Amino acid sequence: MVCSPPKPAGNRHESRKVTTLVAANVFESLSSFFDSPIWSVLKILLIVFLFAMWIALAIWVFKDARRRNSAPGYPRLMAAIALLIPFFGPLLYIAVRPSETLDERKDRELETLALTREAALRCIDCGYPTEPGYLMCPSCQRKLKEPCRHCGKPVDPRWTGCPWCEGQLTNPLTRSDYVPDDREMVEENL
Ligand SMILES: [Zn+2]
Ligand SMILES: [Zn+2]
Repeated sequence: MVCSPPKPAGNRHESRKVTTLVAANVFESLSSFFDSPIWSVLKILLIVFLFAMWIALAIWVFKDARRRNSAPGYPRLMAAIALLIPFFGPLLYIAVRPSETLDERKDRELETLALTREAALRCIDCGYPTEPGYLMCPSCQRKLKEPCRHCGKPVDPRWTGCPWCEGQLTNPLTRSDYVPDDREMVEENL
C-alpha cells in the first residue's frame, strides 16, 4: 500500500493571515500619512499650484486670443471663459480659436500677393517672365504694351492717360482689340 504525501494543511491559512497583516499595515501607514503634517503641507502646495495654473491659463488665453483676433473685447471674453470654467475653459478656447495668428495670416496674404504679382509679370500667351517696361514678350513676341505717343514710355492699351507724362491716350483699347502691328503706327505718329 502506497502512502500519499502529507498535505501542507496550514499553508493556505498562514498565507491568508500574512496578506491580512500586510493590508492592515499599509492601511495603517496610509491613514497615519494622511494625518501627518507632511500631508497638510502637500495639500496646501497642491491647492496653491492648482490656483496658479488656473490664473496662468487665463492669462495665456488672453495673450493668445489677442494674437489671433483683432476684435475688441475678444481676448477679455475668452479670458473670462477660462476663469469661469477652470481648466476646461482653456481647452474649449483651444477648440474654437482661429487656426492662425494675425501675423501668420498677414504673412500668408503677402505671400499670395507676391505670387499674384509674379504671375502678372508673365506673358499672357507663353508664360515667359517679363518686366513692367517690356513692350513685347521676348520669347513669343506677343505685344504686351504700347509706347506712349507723348513720352515713349510703355503704357497699357486700356489706359486713357499716360501715368508718366500725364498725356491723354486717345482710343483706349481693350485686350481683345489689341492688334500686334499697332506699334509701328504709334511710332510713326511720335
Ligand atoms: Zn510670350
Ligand atoms: Zn507718356
